[in-house]
This record gives sequence, C-alpha cells and structure tokens, in this order.
Amino acid sequence: MHGCCLLGAAAAAQNSREVILLDSKAQQTELEWISSPSTGWEEISGLDENYTPIRTYQVCQVMESNQNNWLRTNWIEKGDAQRIFVELKFTLRDCNSLPGVVGTCKETFNLYYQETDAEVGRNIRESQYVKIDTIAADESFTQGDLGERKMKLNTELRIIGPLSRRGFYLAFQDVGACIALVSVKVYYKKCWSIIENLATFPDTVTGSEFSSLVEVEGTCVSDAEEEADNSPKMHCSAEGEWLVPIGKCICKAGFHQKGDACEPCGRGFYKSSSQDLQCSRCPAHSYNDREGSWRCDCEDGYYRALSDPPAVTCTRPPSAPQNLVYNINQTTVSLEWSSPADNGGRNDVTYRIMCRRCGWEPEECLPCGGNVGYLPAQSGLVDAYVTITDLLAHANYTFEVEAVNGVSDLSRTQRLFASVSIATSQAAPSQVSELIKEKVQQRSVQLSWQEPEQPNGVITEYEIKYYEKVSHRIYSTVKSKSTSATVNNLKPSTAYVFQIRAFTAAGYGTFGPRLEVTTKEEPSGTAEQNPVIIIAVVAVAGTIILVFMVFGFIIGRRYALAVKFPGTKTYIDPETYEDPNRAVHQFAKELDASCIKIERVIGAGEFGEVCSGRLKLPGKRDVPVAIKTLKVGYTEKQRRDFLCEASIMGQFDHPNVVHLEGVVTRGEFPGVRTARFTSPSSITQTSSLFSGKPVMIVIEYMENGSLDAFLRKHDGQFTVIQLVGMLRGIAAGMRYLSDMGYVHRDLAARNILVNSNLVCKVSDFGLSRVIDDDPEAVYTTTGGKIPVRWTATEAIQYRKFTSSSDVWSYGIVMWEVMSYGERPYWDMSNQDVIKAIEEGYRLPAPMDCPPGLHQLMLDCWQKDRADRPKFDQIVGILDKMIRNPNTLKTPLGTCTRPISPLLDQNTPDFATFRSVGDWLEAIKMERYNDNFTATGYSSLESVARMTIEDVMSLGITLVGHQKKIMSSIQTMRAQMLHLHGTGVQV
Ligand code: AMP
Repeated sequence: MHGCCLLGAAAAAQNSREVILLDSKAQQTELEWISSPSTGWEEISGLDENYTPIRTYQVCQVMESNQNNWLRTNWIEKGDAQRIFVELKFTLRDCNSLPGVVGTCKETFNLYYQETDAEVGRNIRESQYVKIDTIAADESFTQGDLGERKMKLNTELRIIGPLSRRGFYLAFQDVGACIALVSVKVYYKKCWSIIENLATFPDTVTGSEFSSLVEVEGTCVSDAEEEADNSPKMHCSAEGEWLVPIGKCICKAGFHQKGDACEPCGRGFYKSSSQDLQCSRCPAHSYNDREGSWRCDCEDGYYRALSDPPAVTCTRPPSAPQNLVYNINQTTVSLEWSSPADNGGRNDVTYRIMCRRCGWEPEECLPCGGNVGYLPAQSGLVDAYVTITDLLAHANYTFEVEAVNGVSDLSRTQRLFASVSIATSQAAPSQVSELIKEKVQQRSVQLSWQEPEQPNGVITEYEIKYYEKVSHRIYSTVKSKSTSATVNNLKPSTAYVFQIRAFTAAGYGTFGPRLEVTTKEEPSGTAEQNPVIIIAVVAVAGTIILVFMVFGFIIGRRYALAVKFPGTKTYIDPETYEDPNRAVHQFAKELDASCIKIERVIGAGEFGEVCSGRLKLPGKRDVPVAIKTLKVGYTEKQRRDFLCEASIMGQFDHPNVVHLEGVVTRGEFPGVRTARFTSPSSITQTSSLFSGKPVMIVIEYMENGSLDAFLRKHDGQFTVIQLVGMLRGIAAGMRYLSDMGYVHRDLAARNILVNSNLVCKVSDFGLSRVIDDDPEAVYTTTGGKIPVRWTATEAIQYRKFTSSSDVWSYGIVMWEVMSYGERPYWDMSNQDVIKAIEEGYRLPAPMDCPPGLHQLMLDCWQKDRADRPKFDQIVGILDKMIRNPNTLKTPLGTCTRPISPLLDQNTPDFATFRSVGDWLEAIKMERYNDNFTATGYSSLESVARMTIEDVMSLGITLVGHQKKIMSSIQTMRAQMLHLHGTGVQV
C-alpha cells in the first residue's frame, strides 16, 4: 500500500470538514465511467435504501474464470487536497450462496488510482495504476437477501496521498466477484475558518500525513491586538480539526471582549490597558463622554500625576498647612506646623519652604538666595518642621510653608500656603577676616583690621588674643574700641600669634584667622638690660602725665575744651579757633569734588539741599554718601556755620555717631564745566554746586533717614528687642559724645539717622545755632530757642545744658521710639507741657512698652539732674535687658503705668461730648461708630474703661487707628480721674 492507511468504517469523516470532489450518489444523470471490457462493469440505475434514485455499477461474472474487469472514474481534479478520502459503498454476493461457482467466484475487488495533470485518453493501461487496496466485503448477501432487496451494504474508506499531480483517476478491478458499487465518494478534509481567542484562522487544508498538524497563524479581530510574545496560532489536524491553540489576541485599551469581537467601552467607562479584561467605571472626580476611552479625564480642579495610573481617583493640591508656629534663636528660625486639613486625596504630601527677605515695605521682599541653610531640607519635607539657619541678624523675613503633593505642580490654581513674617534678633558678629600688622617693634605690634562683613549690630569692642608661638604661653587679651590696636609689653625677637574677635550686644563673634608676627630684635645695650633706665624713664613719664592731667583738668573746667585724660579724646569747640577754616581742615578731610557723584535729592537742610550719591576715593571702593550742600550766594558767616557741623562731626569716630567722610571747600567744581560729574536735574540752581565754588559736607549714607519718620512709617512692625537695640545704639553714641565732653542739646528722634541695618546714629551737630534751626525749638523766657518737649527743666529755665540734660532728652527719645514716633505730649501746648512737668507729671508708658523701659524713661526725667542715670549706666541697663529678653516681656496692652493726666486746654473736653458718636467724630474715627454701638459701648464711661484688647475686638485692625483711639481713651480716662479729683502723679 502506497501512502495510504486503513481506517475503519467507524472513523467516517464528519461532513462538516469535508470538501467533496466526487459523489456518485449526487449525480442524477449517467456517470459514464469507462468500463473495460464493456462486458464487465455495467452502469445501472437503482434506488438506494431511502428509495432515492442512484447510479450504480455492477458486475457479476462469477461463472467464468480469469475475470479482469476494469471500471475507471472520470478525472478528478484534486484542488488543494493532499490527502484524499475514498469512501466506497457496495454490496457483494456470498459465493457460497451461488451454486456451481466454486473456483471462479471471488468475494473481493481491487481499488487503484492514477495521478495525472490532465485528462488522458479512454484507454486503461493497467500498469499505470497504483493499487490502493483489495477490498473485501464485511458482509455479503445471499439470494434470499437479494430477493427481499435487503442488501447488506458495505462501506469502506481508503485514504490516498500525498498526491503531487493536478488530478487523478480511480479504478476498480473485478476479478470475478458479484458486486454492486452503490456509491463512490471522494473528498478531502479542511479545517474551516474559525475565530478562536479573538483571532481569525482561515480555511486550512489538512496536511498530507495522518499525523501531521498544519500550524496556522491567526489574525486578530478588529480592535484586538496580539498578546505580547504570544501571537495566536492553531493547528489543523489531518482530521480537519483545529487543535492546540497557542497564544491569543486581546481587546485593545478602550475595548472589551463580547463574544468573538471587541466592543468599545461605553461612556463613563474606560479600559486603560489591553491586559485588563473589563471596562471599568471612571474613578472619582473623573469623567468621559466618548466611547472606547482608555482613560477618563479629571474634573476641573482635579489632576492626575504623571505616575498615577488611570485607575486612581483624580486628586488636587492640598490645602495650606495649619497652625504654623515659629521660634527664633538669634539668626536661626525653626518652623513647625500641622498637616493641611485637606491632603487633596493623596498620601504623598510633602512640604516646601519659601524664604524671602523683606525690607520695611511689603513689596520689598526678595528670595533669600543660597546662603540660607535648611534642615533637613528646603523642599520634599516629610515631617512638619524645618530649621532655617544662617539668616541675617536684625532682618525681616517672610517664610511660606506650602504643602505639596503629586499634583501641585500641575495645578494652575493659586498656591495655598501658611506664612509667617519674622524679624531675626541679634546674632554675634561674623569673623574679622583679615588681620594686618601695621607696625612691628621690639616690644609692640600694631595691628589693624576691617569690620566683620556681618557685624549683626553695633560693634562696641574688639578683643585681640595672643600667645607666644613656641611656648604657647598662656593667652593674653587686649581690647580695642576701634579697628586698630597696639599690643605692648611683648618680648623682642619672639614669634607671637594673634587672633581677633568682635563684640556686640549679642556677644562675641568667633575668633578670626591667626596672624603670626615676630617682634624685632632689640639692639644691644638697651633699656631691657638696664633696669635703672627703665625706672628712670617710667618715673619721668609718670610725672609728666600727672602734671598734664592736673593742668588739663583745670584748663578743661575753665574753658571746657582741653584734654580730660591722657589717651581719651576730647571734643574741641570749633568756635575757639580764630580761623574757622583751620578748624574744618583740622578735623575734616578735604575731598576732591571729582570723587563725588550726586544722584538725587533726599531732603532739605537749613543751608541747602541734602543729596544722596557716591564717594569714590582713590584705591578704595565707592561708598554711598549723603551730601549736604550750601546754597548759592551764601554769606561768609553762613559758610562758617555750615562747615561748623563738619568741624564737630569730624572729631567723632563711633559706630553710633554719624561719620563724616570729608568736606569740599576748595577749588572749582569740575562738574560745572565738564560732563564727568552729572548733577541731577532736581537740584535747584540755587545750590552752591552751581556757583563754581561748591561747598559740601559728605557724610556716610543712612538709608532709612531720620528715626522719627522711619518709625512712623513702620508703625508696630518691630519687636521690642529691635526697638531696644535701636535705643542701645543711641545711648552708646551719646555715651561716646558725653565722654568726649560734647553736649548735644537737641537730642530727638528727628536728629537720629537710621541705616539699612537698623543701626541708629546720632547726628545734627552744631552749636546753639543748630537748635535755632530746629522747627521744634521755640523761644523761651530765658532767651534762645529751645525744643521744649525734649529739654530738661533746668535747661529750659536757666539754659543749663549738660550731658544730664541730654539724658532727659534721651528719655524723650526712648518714649518716641517705643511709641513709634508719636509726638511727645501729643497736642498739648508747649506752655502746658512746661507747666505739667513742673507739677511733676510725666509721659505715660507707650502702648506695649515693657515696664522696665518706662521706669528708665522716668529716671531720665528726674527733676534733679544728679539723680538721672549717666549714659554709661543707660547702656549697661539696656544691654542687660537685651541679654535677658524676659525682662522685656509685656503682655499685649497690659503696660498700664499710672496714667498722667497731662491736660491741655486744646484737648477735647470729654464732658462736652454727649455720645460716643460725638467723641469718635471729634477724633475723626467716626467710621467705627457702628463697631462701638454693635458691641454695646454706648456710654463714654464704658469707653473709658476699654483696653487695647477691647478696641481690637471691635474689629479695628489698623494699628494707627487702634493707637489713636487708645490714646484718646487714655486722655479721656485721665480727664475723668482729674474731674473726680483723683489725678495720679507719677
Ligand atoms: P539735616 O539738615 O541734617 O537735618 O538733614 C535733612 C534731612 O536729610 C534729614 O532729615 C534726612 O532725611 C536727610 N539726611 C541728612 N543726613 C543724611 C544722611 N547722612 N543719610 C541719609 N539721609 C540724610
């Protein structure tokens, strides 16, 4: 048997998988197969078992021997088939039932085929046929059967292949049997197109072998895609059955499987990935209004972070952190807060800090920059606290704490943050970075240095420590108030190591870098070897100093101008110079006008404009300066008076006294002729700048101008420590001036200047005539003009101006500072002030003023000047307060020193007001009428009992208005007490 195998009848093919090439039963007309010899096979019409007409071939030459009857089918084109099934149905007569056929009758026949590419002729050449099999009947029938037409039908199936030609013939060889070929069916098998696992597999012809499986690639149905690395395949078996599916297709994102197809997800549903089986409903705060979506869009105000899968809820930025509290320790601020009320629906909330350094105006804030440190970090903070270090001392900062989550940066809505504005307090000064040896002797070394880059306050002292380099002999220290010092009593030819640190009210800074200096060799035979000489020298020097001191003291008392103590500079009255020009040039440096660049006008002085500009001295950096000018057409006396201030100022050198850079008195002003010096157009042509003979006083620039205006501008914005720091500076400046024997006579906040670091410096120097220029000064009965409100009683009464009368004025400055520039004694007349003071009344404590400070003011206003503290003591007291800030704590509004009934005829008489409304109108605060009535303050008596908290609780938020109302209430209260005869004397 070639290429075929036998299958039992039970394995009959299932029709659905068959492609029929020939079915003799289906043909109604004659089959017209070739029969050879023609006496053999005979075509006969008959009926099948269902009585359907069929065409059959029969032969029954059983009686004769050597039969060889061939029957050949028509040519069968095989198409795609490789493996052909041949199903034969036939009946066969049992030889035993035939009499007399023994030896000739057969019970089998043979089946052949011949492959060809086309039809061939009608001749049958046996040799060209290939035998498929000898077919025997399973059942044969007998005569009786035939008579009853109960033919026993045999079905045999044979398979041929693989076939290689286009077609073939089948042939049946009868060798002497009695056969009826009832039907011949020829077919092959196919696996029919199928959709399996969302892949379409096309019609596939089975393989040529019984065992072969044909591998077929599937194609994904629409909106489906192959699963990664798992493309769909199936195997078509020889039986036309699909077997062994491998891999699959899956519905794309946005589609889900329904039967053998992918359908889009409906509206409000999404499927983000082909891996997901089902469409899901849009998560919270998201939506979609299209079909077939792979994700849903977030509602307005909600977002999805890049890393958020489409399945998670849309979220939003968190709300602001809550309960932000801070703690300041010098220049370190720690912030703590609690988590936001709404985390936006996420659990990845972190915090970030925004630091801005502010000027005194809110719009003057700038980012802090990289010098500030954040612990543990500036952003990405998981815990609700941070420590911010390396801030500047005495500076205003605003910190914003923002809670952020994964969608904060996507949100276009306004940032929400908690913020605090903080003023840093004092910090020790930074290092003195460079120490220079100016002069090295055998036994002394002169050193100089620059102020540290961040003084963080007023440097009152430097400390130089030194030791012998080799022996490391015990440290010694030397102190200096200026930026140079001479260290004496050193050993000759010895290497010393020097270090320096600065001191402010906040304490010592750290020591700067070491400087090594070796003292000079001592020439032989010097005093060191001769103690007798030393003793003699010391004795002579001591005598000279003693004589000098005694002489100086006598002269000093009489003329108030000579040396007080050796080594301590004393102020010299320029009026004592016959030639005032000499005085100027003794104390003030003559500057070349070409070094000065005027930029703008900043104020008006008695003698001309005050401008700001820059001074560039050869070999030095240019510095900002204030330039006081003398107006054009000045008289010689005016020139002298103008320059007198420079002669005085030039004698002073203290961080709390305004520093004179120099004067311009000589020569022509280059800018008049050349373009090198550009004067701003705002300078009036009446200035001496345009006279060709300019006269100028150049002073260090004080960015914040005069203290009174500065405080009024920043009402309520400073901490008590900051205010006390300012007062400490003024007191230190005054201590210096009084130590030099200079009496200011016009100490007032308007005559104090403030720089950008909040350092206050005493200014406005002159002789008595300066007071004449003071708009506050009025003529008194004792002659001359006096700024009454600032002046001590004895100075008003008999012009006794001393450092003690300056102390009185200092007390008034304290009051001005603590009340943010309030006018002393408000709108009382000068006469009433004098009278009230005479009667023993004193200014009450300003709002929020620590009692200790008010006590110090009262001490400054002691009637007997000997009872007043000295500036030295004042500095000491303030230093103590600064070091122990607890002593400065005053609960808000509780600073209720007894109120002095400082009455004045011009003060509103509260008895004349009929209602609270009348009173508010009189103090121009009628806008708050409703606030008072709504909270039940309907009578003036109830108003008079109000505290600052009560006023604030009415919803009056402006500090200026709170103060105005409180101040009037205090006066009202005083007047009521007075009316009832219970005025309190302080
Ligand atoms: P004076 O003639 O000294 O009273 O100065 C008049 C005004 O000019 C003052 O009130 C200040 O506003 C301003 N001024 C004076 N000196 C300076 C200075 N050194 N720095 C800044 N502003 C100054």
